[in-house]
Amino acid sequence: MSRAWRDVDLDALAHNARVLQGALAPGCRLMAVVKADAYGHGAFPVAHRLEQEGVEAFAVACLAEGMDLRRMGVRGKILILGYTPPEEAPLLCRWRLTQTVVDEHHGQALAARGLPLAVHLALDTGMHRLGVPAEDHGALERLYALPHLKIEGVFSHLCVSDSLEAEDVAFTHLQLERFYGAVRWLRDHGYDPGAVHIQASYGIWNLPPQPCAWARAGIALYGVASGGGPTARALDLRPALSLRARVASVRTLSPGEGAGYG
Ligand SMILES: *Cc1c(COP(=O)(O)O)cnc(C)c1O
Repeated sequence: MSRAWRDVDLDALAHNARVLQGALAPGCRLMAVVKADAYGHGAFPVAHRLEQEGVEAFAVACLAEGMDLRRMGVRGKILILGYTPPEEAPLLCRWRLTQTVVDEHHGQALAARGLPLAVHLALDTGMHRLGVPAEDHGALERLYALPHLKIEGVFSHLCVSDSLEAEDVAFTHLQLERFYGAVRWLRDHGYDPGAVHIQASYGIWNLPPQPCAWARAGIALYGVASGGGPTARALDLRPALSLRARVASVRTLSPGEGAGYG
């Protein structure tokens, strides 16, 4: 037996998935973020249990994680949130993975591979990590004009939605305005944005239900918060992971003594 190990409570995970799904707007579905080995919980047991619970979409960070999920037998939609080099396009097709277009150049390079690729467009609404600037309508037009790319969704990511400070709340609202503004512009100009999504865990905790197709939950799904701050909504979530260790030795110390260095 190991000296220390993780216990993952898959019933807690399933409970959390139901609670999160219940917190979303009608028609909005939970996309389970299982990057980084499901935040250390084990991508294989987590994805399998969530599929049994009816979760139909997963998000990962990179191509290798997406391929691993397929090899494990996951059949649902798998969205790669990060950059994939265009020369890997054949693997995206072969493993039926949905790729994020991280900027205009990436979209052009993916299209140039000449393969029918399912993609979601990332819109930069203020985080500035990746995405096409939401107000760059010219870039959106050029991306929709590209051959081969099947744009099945448009999404953005909120960077301060974990905070209830007035300044951060205002910034989140600016991001939402830019996002829905771009979605509206696409629809008004005859472009189909497909499935739209913007909430991650704190978007679910701190915003009213959003008129989206998906909400991408990671940390909340595992039943923990990434910060200790207050949230606008209370959700009955349960930690799914316990870290346990065998007690090797019990020592009795006098007051004022220390244990270990310093
Ligand atoms: C990691 C990630 C998520 C999930 O974030 P949580 O805060 O863990 O819910 C959602 N969307 C994107 C783009 C991410 O990178």
